[in-house]
Amino acid sequence: MNILILGGGGREHSIAWAVMQNPKCDKLIVAPGNAGIAQIAECASLDILNGAAVVNFCDENAIDFVIVGPEAPLAAGVSDRLRDAGLLVFGPSQAAAQLEASKHFTKSICDAAGAPTAAYGHFTDAASARAYVTAQGAPIVVKADGLAAGKGVIVAETEAQAMAAIDDMFGGEFGDAGAEVVIEEFMTGEEASFFVLCDGENALPIGTAQDHKRVGDGDTGPNTGGMGAYSPAPVLTDAVADLAMERIIRPTLREMARRGTPYQGVLYAGLMIQNGQPRLVEYNVRFGDPECQVLMMRLGAQALDLMQAAAEGRLAEAQVNWATDHALTVVMAAKGYPGSYEKGSAINGLDDTTEDSFHMVFHAGTAMADGRIVASGGRVLNVTARGASLQQARDRAYMMVDRIDWPEGFCRRDIGWRALS
Ligand code: ATP
Repeated sequence: MNILILGGGGREHSIAWAVMQNPKCDKLIVAPGNAGIAQIAECASLDILNGAAVVNFCDENAIDFVIVGPEAPLAAGVSDRLRDAGLLVFGPSQAAAQLEASKHFTKSICDAAGAPTAAYGHFTDAASARAYVTAQGAPIVVKADGLAAGKGVIVAETEAQAMAAIDDMFGGEFGDAGAEVVIEEFMTGEEASFFVLCDGENALPIGTAQDHKRVGDGDTGPNTGGMGAYSPAPVLTDAVADLAMERIIRPTLREMARRGTPYQGVLYAGLMIQNGQPRLVEYNVRFGDPECQVLMMRLGAQALDLMQAAAEGRLAEAQVNWATDHALTVVMAAKGYPGSYEKGSAINGLDDTTEDSFHMVFHAGTAMADGRIVASGGRVLNVTARGASLQQARDRAYMMVDRIDWPEGFCRRDIGWRALS
C-alpha cells in the first residue's frame, strides 16, 4: 500500500514511524515532513491546504491511502476532495470537522445529543455577551468560536477579565474566529484526553493521555502547544472511559450521522473529570500533538490497520491489542518559546540516543542545513520512551534528553509529575 501523510510535526513523525513498521506499507510519503521524517520516509513539498493539488499528487504517486495529520486541511475540505476523487482517506469531512472548527457547533451537538458539558451562551455582539457575564459572574470562560491555535480561550477569574476578553474578540483580535463568541460555565476537575477512532457509525477507543500546557516546571508560566504528555492517563479509568463512550462519544456520533455528516477519523475528546464523572471540554478532529507521540509509541504497527479500518468503515470488527505499558514524551523547545526564539541552532548528540520500539526522538520543528540538523521552530524535538511503568518510561526519556547536545534548547524536567505523585 502506498501511503501519504499530510503534515510536518512531531505528530506526523510518530504516525510515520508507526506506519513504517507495518509490512502493509510499501511506500510512504509525508508532505511537507521535516528533517526527522526524512530519515524514515520520502518528504515532498506540497500545498496541503489545496485539495486539487493533493489529489493530483496522489494520482502522480499512485497513493492508495491518505492520513491527514493537522486540522487545517480538514477544515479546508481536503479530505472531501480526496474522497470525491475515489481515494481512501483517514480524517473527517469539512462538515464533520466543524466539531473542532466551531465551538458553537459542538455545543449545539452536545445539546441535541444530551452530552454533559459546561452550560453556555452564544453571542454575536459584545453588549449581550457582557450582559451574560454580569448575570453569571466569574470565574467564567470566554471562547472565540473559530480556530485560534489554542489562543482563543480565556479562563477569566474576574468579570473585568471576561469583559476585556469579549471586547478583544469582538474588536477583531482573532479575526473571523472571534466574530462569534461562546461563554461557558467554569468547570472544575482534572483534565484528560480521550482518543476514539470512528468510522461514521462505530467507535473504538484507542487510548488516553494527559499533557502539560504550561511552559514551566510545576505547571507555571504561559501556555504552550504542549511541553510533554504521557499515556495512559490514570484519572481516565476504564469506568470513566465507559461513561464517556456512553454519554458523550456515541451520542455525538449518532447526532452527526442523523444530520447527514457522519464522523470518520480520530475524535479527540478533551474531558473534565470530577468525582468519576466526565464532561466534555472540547473536541479536536485530529490527534493531539504531543499526545499522538505517546499513543503511537504504545500502538506501534497496528496503528495503520486501525486507521485503515476506520477509513473503510470496518471498525466493528477491529480491536486494539494493548500491552500493559506506559509512554511519556518530553518536548524540547527553543529558548524563548512560547515567546520569540531564534531558529537555526545546531542540534548534536541525536546519534547517541537509541532508537527502537522503546526509545524514539520524534522531530517537531527541525530542518537540514549544511548536512546538520538544526532547529526550525519553537517546539523542536519530542523525546519519547515506553516502559513497564510510567516511572521507567520517564527515566528512559530523560536519559535520552541528557544525551542531546543543544545549548539553545530547554525542556521541563517534571513531565508526568501529577501521575507519579
Ligand atoms: P487547544 O487548542 O489548546 O486544545 P482550544 O482553543 O481548542 O485549545 P479549549 O480546549 O476549549 O480551547 O480550552 C483550552 C483550555 O481552557 C482547556 O484545556 C481547559 O484547561 C480550559 N477550559 C476550557 N473550557 C473550560 C471550562 N468550561 N471550564 C474550565 N476550564 C476550561
